[in-house]
Amino acid sequence: RLHGPIRPGGRRADRRPRQQAAPRAPAPPPPITRTITLAEGMTVKDLAEKIEVKAKEVLKKLMEKRMVLTINTTLDTETATMIAREFGADVKMRTFEEEMVVLESEVIDPGDLVPRAPVVTVLGHVDHGKTTLLDAIRETRVAEQEAGGITQHIGAYAAEIDGRRIVFLDTPGHEAFTMMRARGASVTDVVVLVVAADDGVMPQTQEAIDHARVADVPILVAINKIDKSDANPERVKQELAERELTPEDWGGQTVMVPVSAKKRDNLDTLLEMILLVTELGEHKANPKRMATGAVLEAKVDRGRGPVATILVQDGTLHVGDNFIVGTHVGRVRALIDDRGQPLKEAEPSSPVEVLGLTGLPQPGDALQVVADAAKARQIALLRQNQAKEKALVSRGTRVTLESLQQQLAEGEAKELPIIIKADVQGSAEVLAESLAKLGDERVKIRIIHTGVGAISEWDVLLASTSNAIIIGFNVRPDRNAAGVAEREGVDIRKHSVIYNVTDELKKAMTGLLEPTTRERQLGLAEVREVFKVPKIGLAAGCIVTDGSITRAGDAQARLVRDGVIVHEGRIGSLRRFKDDVNEVKTGIECGITFERFSDIKTGDVIEAFTVEKVATV
Ligand code: GDP
Repeated sequence: RLHGPIRPGGRRADRRPRQQAAPRAPAPPPPITRTITLAEGMTVKDLAEKIEVKAKEVLKKLMEKRMVLTINTTLDTETATMIAREFGADVKMRTFEEEMVVLESEVIDPGDLVPRAPVVTVLGHVDHGKTTLLDAIRETRVAEQEAGGITQHIGAYAAEIDGRRIVFLDTPGHEAFTMMRARGASVTDVVVLVVAADDGVMPQTQEAIDHARVADVPILVAINKIDKSDANPERVKQELAERELTPEDWGGQTVMVPVSAKKRDNLDTLLEMILLVTELGEHKANPKRMATGAVLEAKVDRGRGPVATILVQDGTLHVGDNFIVGTHVGRVRALIDDRGQPLKEAEPSSPVEVLGLTGLPQPGDALQVVADAAKARQIALLRQNQAKEKALVSRGTRVTLESLQQQLAEGEAKELPIIIKADVQGSAEVLAESLAKLGDERVKIRIIHTGVGAISEWDVLLASTSNAIIIGFNVRPDRNAAGVAEREGVDIRKHSVIYNVTDELKKAMTGLLEPTTRERQLGLAEVREVFKVPKIGLAAGCIVTDGSITRAGDAQARLVRDGVIVHEGRIGSLRRFKDDVNEVKTGIECGITFERFSDIKTGDVIEAFTVEKVATV
């Protein structure tokens, strides 16, 4: 299968006519007396150990079958089984997943579990003080204990209060949080949601709440900037209560701590509350087992090679350990903590820089220590193959309206998570309400996020991690988002009439989704300048940035400003210098006017597209 050696000659040897048979007929295989368990990706050496014969014996048997291998060659299941049977053993295969479970549970004594430090991600609206808060905690709770006080930015740090540690992920922002989750890592035990007391709940506050909820991570609120004269913490509480985050002092569940990151007021209370909130989660780890962790950051450092910041999540990571990280293997050459100090080992909930990688992993990739280098290589190889297979499969299993219809037809009840992005808040709300009402006993509709503005990469990642579809109402995906959606296979439905959205969903639910029409983008052009044209109004001086802009056939065009559709219609004229042309390709400048529309501004994007019919699956 994956690494099956080629068997020259195949079965022919067995079919040799009798008269040509070797003078001495091979001894009949011994009776099967036992069963051994093998893991996918085993080598000749592994097999020999399992069946308790010398590797040389196995190689000899392989040679008889015309397979010339070495002791480190990986065997496929079929070959391994055949050889084992030659030695009187039947084979039970352990799949890669089972093997990982075995690896992960290699020490099972629950008595070895000890509490570990909680891991915190700080989220919130831009300018509400995330960075200031992280810096303030770092400086008061980390640096003061160090002579010289120089701390390193490695993507995370450990703060200390009353001898207890809290780990802060140092890359505030939703992208990092969601990116990690999209790659399957869940490292955060609690989200600290920073809300500025002078500004209140803003769009990214809402986004943060939605993301924390989808990730099922508890939220603790830091009401920041209480030193400001126009601070209004009560209003913040009110706004959060409206979003089902009811403050404790109002009888709710959510801990809210008023702080000033700038004046460093009440930070200790915040830390104590973090400990209190996470204590209930009883986060434990086993320092005696081989380490597992997640990549927080990775970079290639001149002189040091690939360096990754790893959050050790369980077990203890030692210098000299062999590991797999993502699809790469490595051996820990050095460990450096968040204060720049070299370490011999790193315990659970420690962020450390790890040197000794053979390649650059991605944030969110898992790190797993394994017994020896050969094993690490096998598993890394298997993971590479698995990653490839998964990429192929996952595209096929993503929810789309078409696949929903298909599943319902097969009688499956489904949940359909939806993300709504609209040009204005009002439309988003109306849509959320009308869509939620459409759910029935077969399809539960769950609106996991609504927002205003262009569909961002972050929206797509949220959709991808929660298997949601995205509805864009009068908005478009931005450049990154379109690419990511394509890669992740996320279904983005673009609409500009509310009735059409509900109608489409209803049809999908009742199995009446028509062969849909789907847009095909032809090209994009950026408006560099706007000039007056007699009789027509304004024309756009553009450069084509993607595909081509055409006015041929059934091509249509729309004008997009900051991700929001301003106008849709047909191109009036398309010009190169003074000449009318039908098509202008990437990288070329041109003049564009719309039919009966001229509210064009510098920085707008013109998108040319056609509408095609697409058959449902
Ligand atoms: P971020 O975008 O959430 O990381 O926000 P920053 O940490 O960059 O802070 C944005 C601005 O708010 C900066 O000018 C900070 O100095 C200011 N700021 C942050 N915390 C406080 C605070 O507690 N009080 C006051 N008055 N200003 C603050």
